[in-house]
Formats: sequence, C-alpha cells, structure tokens
Amino acid sequence: PAVADLIDGKAFAAGLRGRIATLAGEFEARAGRKAGLAVVLVGMDPASQVYVRSKGKATVEAGMASFEHKLEADTSEADLLALIETLNADPAVDGILVQLPLPAHLDEQKVIATISPDKDVDGFHVINAGRLSVGQPGFVPCTPLGCLMLLKDRLGNLSGLDAVVIGRSNIVGKPMAQLLLAESCTVTVAHSRTRNLPEVVRRADIVVAAVGRPELVKGDWIKPGATVIDVGINRVDAAEPGKTRLVGDVDFAGAKAVAGAITPVPGGVGPMTIAVLLRNALVAAYANAGIDLPAGTI
Ligand code: NAP
Repeated sequence: PAVADLIDGKAFAAGLRGRIATLAGEFEARAGRKAGLAVVLVGMDPASQVYVRSKGKATVEAGMASFEHKLEADTSEADLLALIETLNADPAVDGILVQLPLPAHLDEQKVIATISPDKDVDGFHVINAGRLSVGQPGFVPCTPLGCLMLLKDRLGNLSGLDAVVIGRSNIVGKPMAQLLLAESCTVTVAHSRTRNLPEVVRRADIVVAAVGRPELVKGDWIKPGATVIDVGINRVDAAEPGKTRLVGDVDFAGAKAVAGAITPVPGGVGPMTIAVLLRNALVAAYANAGIDLPAGTI
C-alpha cells in the first residue's frame, strides 16, 4: 500500500527562521535598530504563559527585540487599551501581539481594534481581514499563512485544485479559505452544520482540518493522493495510565495510507505559526522603516 510523504513543518520552519534572522541582521544594519515585537499577556493562563515565553525566545533568537508586557488578570480595559496606544506610538515597536484568550471582563474585539493595523502582526484586525478578502496587501493570520507556505512548497501552483477547509474560525478556517481562493483553488468551507462531511472531503485535492476534534477526519474520507494539512492540536489520554499525548484533527495512521502527503502532529503546522509571526514582525519593521524587503525571500 502507498504511504504518504511527511510534510516536515519543523524543518521548513527552521529554514524560514534562518532566512528571517539574516534579514533581521540586514534590517539592523540599515535601520540602526533592531526590529521589535511587543507581546502583551493579561493574567496567568499556563498555556498562554508558555506561548508568550516561546514567542519571546524565538524573537530574540531571530535577532529582533522582544518587549514583553505581563499584566495582572484584573487589569482594566482602559489600562490595557492605554498600553496598546503607547505601543502603537512607540517607534521601536514594529509589531504588537495580544495573547488570546483574554480574561472574560475584557472585550477581545475592542482590544484587537485598538492595535494599529500596520502593527497587527497576528492579522486579526478587521482592516487586515478586509484587506485579505479584497486582495490588498496586509497582515495574514500566522497559522493559515504557514499552512499555505507548506502547501505551495509541496504542490507549487495550486490553481484549479479542489480544496476543503474544515472549520470557519476567524483565526484559521476563514483566512485559510481566503488564501486558497486567492491561489485560484475551488474552495469549500465545511463546519459543524455541513451535511455528509466525508463525501465533501472525498472531493478534495487539498484538505485543511482546523476543527479541534481529535482524529475526526478518517482515512477513508481522503481522496487517494490528496495533500492533508492537519492544524488540530488536541491533548488526549495515552495508552499508559496518567499520560497524555497530542493528536491532530485527522486520523494520522488511516490518512497516511491514502494521502499523497500529510503533516504530522506534532511537528507539522505547529512550528510554522511562530516562524510566520516572526516573518510578519519583520515585514512590519521593513515597512515601518520605509526600507524595501528583498522580494521573494520570506
Ligand atoms: P474553533 O474556533 O473552535 O473552530 C472550530 C471550527 O470547527 C468551527 O468552525 C466549527 O464549526 C468546526 N467544527 C467543530 N466540530 C465540527 C464537526 N464535528 N464537523 C465539522 N466541523 C466542526 O477552533 P480554531 O481556533 O479554528 O482551531 C482549530 C484547531 O486548530 C484546534 O485544535 C486548535 O488547537 C488548533 N490550532 C492550532 C494552531 C497551531 O498549529 N499553531 C493555531 C490555532 C489553532 P462551527 O463554526 O459550525 O461551530
């Protein structure tokens, strides 16, 4: 039986981070300062703390300046918005990321709307969502942009391919669909109300699963030879009592026997997200400083 090629997101992300580091060095030489990324964390959510720490570490490793702002869980909305305004006005800060989710008393949409669209390296501001949907340059959310990079690396030209995106969130599914449409794929967006999901998925040359349901997508849903991108990160109980393991939204063992190529979990899409965040921050820095970024490098 055929066995799918593994799409090595970890290796691709390492290469991208290397190219970013080179360009960050060139930026510093030309601008006389490092490119800067500010990360704002409100509260003590353990997963968010891990994400913020690894983003800060990756930023410094890429030769950029990391500004970490850790606020108490009971920070008022006015204080948080005031910090964002300060960062908007700070010339040393090229990109601003507010780690989500925020504590319940803070209005996420209002907070995101306060970030300058030109520093919105997460691409969550409605201005950037709008730019993506009308085909103007802007910041694209990191996870779907990372998925697109892996797809283009594997397949080259995506024009005319049938793509199914499972999930319609603002941070993954919707921007993924927009990106694939811009590449001239025929795009279907599936979600929890989709009828006969296995049949819908069976038509697809490209399957992007961003559902948050462990191993929802079965091997016999996959068209032979299709390219499968698994965005899901789900922690489930392992065989050994008391232990857990990470699985994707795709039944990896089943899909691997049918697909042409597939991303593993972990080591597929996950490592791409931070690499693309660094990319977006560097793009912001070049734009902010009015320096042309060498074309086609990142
Ligand atoms: P989300 O906001 O919870 O959205 C999930 C989407 O899946 C929704 O659109 C939902 O449909 C749909 N869905 C749920 N159950 C379904 C079912 N049985 N059949 C078909 N569709 C179904 O999740 P998200 O933020 O997009 O994240 C999705 C997954 O990606 C999660 O596992 C998350 O951990 C992972 N993730 C990974 C990264 C990374 O790799 N760095 C980044 C972000 C997210 P409705 O809209 O109808 O409810």
